Amino acid sequence: MLVLKFGGTSVGSVENMTNVKNIIKTSGKKVVVLSAMSGTTNALVALSENVRNNEIKEGNKSLDELYIKYNKTISELLNQSSLSQEVGNYIDSVFDFLRSCLNESYSELLYNQIVSQGELLSTFIFSRFLTQEGLNARLLPALDFMRIDRNKEPDNFYIAQNLNRAIDEMLPADIYITQGFICLDADGKISNLERGGSDYTATIIGAVINADEVQIWTDIDGFHNNDPRCVENTHAISDLSFDEAAELAYFGAKILHPQTVMPVRKFDIPVRLKNTMSPESYGTLITSEVHEEGIKAIAAKDNITAIKIKSARMLLAYGFLKKVFEIFEKYETSIDMVTTSEIAVSLTIDNATHLDSIVEELNKFALVEVDQNQSIVCLVGNSIIYHQDTYKLFQVLQDVNVRMISYGGSNNNISLLVNTDDKLTTLKKVHGYVFR
Ligand code: ASP
Ligand code: MG
Repeated sequence: MLVLKFGGTSVGSVENMTNVKNIIKTSGKKVVVLSAMSGTTNALVALSENVRNNEIKEGNKSLDELYIKYNKTISELLNQSSLSQEVGNYIDSVFDFLRSCLNESYSELLYNQIVSQGELLSTFIFSRFLTQEGLNARLLPALDFMRIDRNKEPDNFYIAQNLNRAIDEMLPADIYITQGFICLDADGKISNLERGGSDYTATIIGAVINADEVQIWTDIDGFHNNDPRCVENTHAISDLSFDEAAELAYFGAKILHPQTVMPVRKFDIPVRLKNTMSPESYGTLITSEVHEEGIKAIAAKDNITAIKIKSARMLLAYGFLKKVFEIFEKYETSIDMVTTSEIAVSLTIDNATHLDSIVEELNKFALVEVDQNQSIVCLVGNSIIYHQDTYKLFQVLQDVNVRMISYGGSNNNISLLVNTDDKLTTLKKVHGYVFR
């Protein structure tokens, strides 16, 4: 069985939904995971902010706009009156619910309920469209099987049991349509896999059903060797190993949710990135196979905070790093880059929610300096640190102010920390040095 995930743009217009239909109508059973139509999740997040700030008028106004957009889509997409009636009623019920949220007080649960509506809408609409087009497709509600545990990790045992049961109890179908992103938490309440989480849904399902392949369909021809929004003349990389893809996704390549390859790598299930708008392009194939050595891609991640922690007593002292790391552990804040000298350690975090408390605790035994608006520029490639071309990277250091370097932590990654204002120049310079 194949698992195919289609992103927001792929289900964002009638034309693209028709492309998706043509891609999935080929023979063989498949699970199709959908994101919300493009723009919807952002609109729902904004709505939840309206709820939080009691902005009822603004909230209703944006809901009116979104409602018009949905009704326009179904009027173009569905031409059988019974189906468009059914879908119209569903859309009305979702918007009634969203309007009612504007009278509620904000809570995390309400946020989760609001943002889940995008995937519920796209899958309902799309599954009825497939019915109209004569395909044997059924809606498989993600909330019947997708669940995370208290550590926010997929509860694979629960998912396997409930997914298989849900499929068994249904009338047989060729195509099972399900929602990406949304899930239940350990208490059975509605939750999600964080923004961009539909990719992760696809590989969690792929692992559980032992899929032949997981395909992630987006609006670009796979992983590029640099950020195409920042640098000219980038190109898609045809093959990546799981390790390389994991590093790239984690360090900023926007195309994949950072956790995507985790569930499938241990079962060696390939992940293929494809372009809905250009299905004949090869895309990127991610497998356990390791291809050539050297720098394959550059990516950048913004909103990084650098923290320098200096102790007068670190000299010849042991246990200092342990004390430092324990504080980050206590505040469940993960550290990305670390560099040390004899008297100081610098590290970076990308989640600054608990920054104030962390700094307060560190201040009890160290001097702390914080730099915000930093970006990690990350170079990824198999055995990159041994490759003869890697020295070229260091030529960039004469042109850009680099705050930290991480080299040798893994064989596949070299990271530079720069001021976000210097990110573009760094990306361009590194690109020019290493891919010329
Ligand atoms: N719709 C969700 C988001 O925009 C999940 C996803 O698209 O993957 O974040
Ligand atoms: Mg995405």
